[in-house]
Amino acid sequence: MKRDTRIVHAGRPKYRAGSRPVNPPVVRASTVDFESLDAMDAAERGSRAGEPVSAYGIHGTDTTFALEAFITELEGGFGTKIFSSGLEAISSVFLGYLKPGDHVLVVDTVYSPVRRLLHRFLGERGIGFDFYSPREPDIQRLIRDSTRMIYTETPGSVTMELQDIGTLAQLARQHDDLLVVCDNTWASGFCYRPLEHGAHLSIVAGTKYLSGHSDVLIGSVTAESSTFPTLHRTRALLGCSVSPDDCALTLRGARTLHVRYPAHAERALKVAGWLESRPAIARVLYPVLPSSPDHSQWQSQFDGAAGLFTVELAGEVRGQTKKFVENLTLFGLGASWGGFESLALPCDVAANRSVDDWSERGDLVRLHIGLEDPQDLIDDLDTALSTLR
Ligand SMILES: *Cc1c(COP(=O)(O)O)cnc(C)c1O
Repeated sequence: MKRDTRIVHAGRPKYRAGSRPVNPPVVRASTVDFESLDAMDAAERGSRAGEPVSAYGIHGTDTTFALEAFITELEGGFGTKIFSSGLEAISSVFLGYLKPGDHVLVVDTVYSPVRRLLHRFLGERGIGFDFYSPREPDIQRLIRDSTRMIYTETPGSVTMELQDIGTLAQLARQHDDLLVVCDNTWASGFCYRPLEHGAHLSIVAGTKYLSGHSDVLIGSVTAESSTFPTLHRTRALLGCSVSPDDCALTLRGARTLHVRYPAHAERALKVAGWLESRPAIARVLYPVLPSSPDHSQWQSQFDGAAGLFTVELAGEVRGQTKKFVENLTLFGLGASWGGFESLALPCDVAANRSVDDWSERGDLVRLHIGLEDPQDLIDDLDTALSTLR
């Protein structure tokens, strides 16, 4: 079946006694009550083996399992675990697959809270890390005997450089015990699937497009068969748990992923193309634009795009970012993205890079293009830009 059909049908409940609700019911439970100890043992064994059965609510209920099945299908993986946020999904991956003495290579464009997690928590607990440029031509030279993970994002946060996961995976698979982990939030498994390119784990902040309405925090990690047991065990050991209400909301949002993604992308391309022509804009960082150095890679590896990109303001209007974003009326000012609404966020990228030097570049503003009429968004941007000197 094609992707759109799978988005509609994956993770739906089974018929019971001839009928079923269209959406999985919200099953709330802490205690699961068993008829016999044998039934309890069987559930515990199944749950430990990673089957979609629950001996206790913390491991999930049918609502959780439905969302897991949906994301596994979307990402083309073996199994998925759900976390209470994208960041919890990420930190659980580090805690589950690394131990003191191990080393991780992290792309310099990493989602900035991950940089803090490394500096202020994992580093203090004996995990070594180095950042690498998203344009690094020779990752091999950075790999040490203790390197156990290459942690990457494609495209990178804010500056939007693509990573060739296939090349990284090929390299990693020449080493014993070296995993490639990809934060796949921009594509949500919809328009890019890292596991198909050889990554061992794919992480999605479902907070963004998967739930799609700016009212849920949720994360997922999808594994291939060799990495799934550790993922499953880690979530159970750490006691991570997600409300079934949030799983149901995410699954409800995700049913229209294939309608929303192209709608965002079409509007974003129109707005990004217009912005590129403005004198106050030095560059638009968006792999979908033919002017992007990553355009041909995007074309060959992605089947769609998110409506998230970044503009670099021209040097002449340096220091006027606050004025620009506060003069926007249709764009909210806020973190996160992937909802139906447009957002603008000034980004201090120089403070969040340790390999590539962005200090000489223009101010950056990340835009999320929502589902408004793109001409209204362009008019709003035009008015705000016209106030800059
Ligand atoms: C938002 C985001 C996350 C974290 O998701 P939360 O659910 O907000 O914790 C992780 N990675 C990327 C690339 C993100 O944009």
